[in-house]
Formats: sequence, C-alpha cells, structure tokens
Amino acid sequence: METTKSEKLFDEAQGLIPGGVDSPVRAFRSVGGTPRFIARGQGAAVWDVDGNRYLDYVLSWGPLILGHAHPVVVSALSAAAQQGTSYGAPTALENELARLVIDTVPSIEMIRFVNSGTEATMSALRLARAYTGRSKIIKFAGCYHGHADMLLVQAGSGVATLGLPDSPGVPAATTADTLTAPFNDIEAARRLFETYPDQIAAVIVEPIAANMGFVLPKDGYLAGLHDLCREFGALFILDEVMTGFRVSPGGAQAYWDLDPDITCLGKVIGGGLPVGAYAGKKAIMETVAPAGPMYQAGTLSGNPLAMTAGLATIRSLLEPGVFDGIAARTADLVEGIKAAAISARLPLQANYAGTMFGFYFLREQASKIVDYGSAKEFADTERYGRFFHAMLERGFYFAPSQFEAGFLSIAHNDSDVAMTVQAAGELFAKM
Ligand SMILES: *Cc1c(COP(=O)(O)O)cnc(C)c1O
Repeated sequence: METTKSEKLFDEAQGLIPGGVDSPVRAFRSVGGTPRFIARGQGAAVWDVDGNRYLDYVLSWGPLILGHAHPVVVSALSAAAQQGTSYGAPTALENELARLVIDTVPSIEMIRFVNSGTEATMSALRLARAYTGRSKIIKFAGCYHGHADMLLVQAGSGVATLGLPDSPGVPAATTADTLTAPFNDIEAARRLFETYPDQIAAVIVEPIAANMGFVLPKDGYLAGLHDLCREFGALFILDEVMTGFRVSPGGAQAYWDLDPDITCLGKVIGGGLPVGAYAGKKAIMETVAPAGPMYQAGTLSGNPLAMTAGLATIRSLLEPGVFDGIAARTADLVEGIKAAAISARLPLQANYAGTMFGFYFLREQASKIVDYGSAKEFADTERYGRFFHAMLERGFYFAPSQFEAGFLSIAHNDSDVAMTVQAAGELFAKM
C-alpha cells in the first residue's frame, strides 16, 4: 500500500515531538494505526492532509460547540486580531465574558480566567486550601482534572486509600494529600471524611465522569458529596471543564440543580482557543490575589483573542433554540445507536446528557459500568478499536479511545446523524 501523507508526517513528528503528538491520546495508541493529520475543519467536518473528509464527533475534545470555523467566531477573531493579540493589561472583553458566564451559570458570582483546564483545577485546589487552611483533597478514580502533579492520582483496585503517583516524575510528597475514592460510591467518600474529619479542604469531581468513557452520576450522588462537604467544612468543587455549556447552558450544575462553591471551566468557554477559568462564590474568590493573599497569575490570561472566541461562541449558543437543537440531535444519535445495538444483539452501554455522549462496548450483556473499576473490567476496548477504524474508514471520526466522550455541534444536522446511525448499525451487524 502507498504511504499516506499522514503516515509520512507522523514518521517525521516522532523524531521531533515525543510520540509525535502534543497530547498523548492523539497518537491512536489505544486503537492502533496512524493518527490522521488534519489540514482543515469546516462545520461538522474535518479533512486530513490526504484529502479525506470525516464527520467529526471529537470537536477538539469538546470546545467546538459551534463546529469548525464558524463564520461568527472567525470574523470576530479576525477583527480582534487587527487590534492586537495581547496587552498584559485588563480589557473590557474580560468583563463581558465574565458577566456572561456569571449570568448563565447559577452558582458563579466571580471568575478568574486562566489558559487551560489544567490551570483551572490546580488553581481551584490552591484556592480551596488557602480558604479553608486545610491540605487534603478528595478526587475520584478515573476522573481527570488535567495534568497537575497532585491530581495525577487514581485509586488502586477500587480501594479508597492514600494516593500513589500515577506518572513517574510526580513526587510522592505532592500526592500525599490527595485521597481517592471510587466514583458513584458515597459511602467510600464518607469513610474518607470520617478518617480525616478536619483535614479535607475540598472534594473535586467531574459531574459526569467523561474521561473514563461516559459514566453518569447515580441519582443524588453529587448532591450527597456536597452534603458531606457541608457537614465536614470542606469546599465542593465541580470540574465543569468538559460539561460547562455542554450538558446545559448552565452546565451540569443547572441540569442537576447543584450549587458548588467553586466551578472549573475550560473548553467551550474558549470557543477553540486556549482558555480555562475557576469561578465561584464571591467570598471565596476574593481570596485570590490581588483581592486576597492567594497568588495566581498568567502572562496571557484573559487575552483578547480567547475572550473574543469565547464570547462569540457562548452568545451564539444562547440564542433561542440553538442549544436544544444540538441536544435533540445528540439524543437522536445515541437512541439510534442503542437501537442498532439491540437489533444486532451487541452488548452496548450508551448514554448522553445535553450535547455530549459516550458508549461502551461491553464484554458481557448484563454488566454495567458505574466507575473506573467496572469500566476497566467490562469495556471491550478491542472491539471499540475495530469499530473506531471501520467508522474512520467510512468517514466518521469518533474519539480514538473507548475511554473518551463524544460531542455534537450546531453544524451536525439530522442527515449527518442518520448516516452515522446507519453506518454504525451496518457495522454492529458484522461485529
Ligand atoms: C479537558 C479536561 C481538563 C483539562 O483541561 P486542559 O485544557 O486540557 O488542560 C480538566 N478537567 C476536565 C473534566 C477535562 O475534561
């Protein structure tokens, strides 16, 4: 077979950039094969350097809720760039995006912009520790909160225990205060609080565990975590980097009526440019310098291009009917895929919330994935890899890993969804 341009570029990249990529999952390691090098995106589709078109359900891992190169975003960005790309001084744009987020996300009274979701979560934890004067934090196995040292921890074999580093280079001292419990297990979280009653600064949780596939919280689980925080004087941090403006315009907190102390945002609020934010109650946020003593800064934070893309994206998303339209097509996609799996007698666990979704191929018909342990045990990653490549071949780009969520945009129309369901159904029948 002839070598493709993607293969040539990937070969070259591997000598220049570790593993050939700037973020590991892009390398296709968990599904095998060669990553497609992308030349351009427009609407719901991307084109690779060999000229193949793919209907895109990755959307830069969530941010592009208006699709690729939406004209409103592109023209706002080019107008903004004419005025300069960064000043290192405050701008009116930051006020505008701050006000828009505060007006849309119920719990948020004040916000600080940073450059990535990783920065958002690490700053949120510093804030929780500064505000409470406590050191320990609780996170959940399989929840991803970016790559800050203290958060690169997962529980060993489902036992809630003291954190062990997940990656070499993370000193044990950095993670010694990171406690982990299984997701969806309120009793395990309670046991940690009871073991360290006055030492826990915060609980940080993804409202939908969408970095181990797509695991919805059990009824009352998130509210139960918040109750535990109140009981023991800890802060409740909701990591809405992925779910913010995705599960509902007000995020997962509006969807499930939660009132977190601190919210982490990213992805959609940057409209495809590098942005993150941490936000919350005024009394807590005023601990951040220069209003208060907790230091956190950023050369490019709140920069005019990122604020512009975020504003254009969120304003368009909040126009009447836009969000609901994307959510309706997300439901159609997942219901269609579920029905196809049932008629092919293929064990599949599929779910969605708002404009995001995920599905697992299961090793056995009756098993159910509720946390990281069951995801690792029951998800059929080998079958997912076959599905992924067969769909890619047909022009549908899903996440190159069974343990990632999928996304729709305003640009995905009914016929895109119908074609996807049909292609998936044809494959299911042969799997
Ligand atoms: C993507 C993600 C992050 C990290 O954001 P980056 O911008 O990649 O640093 C943090 N938390 C959650 C829930 C995410 O999905």
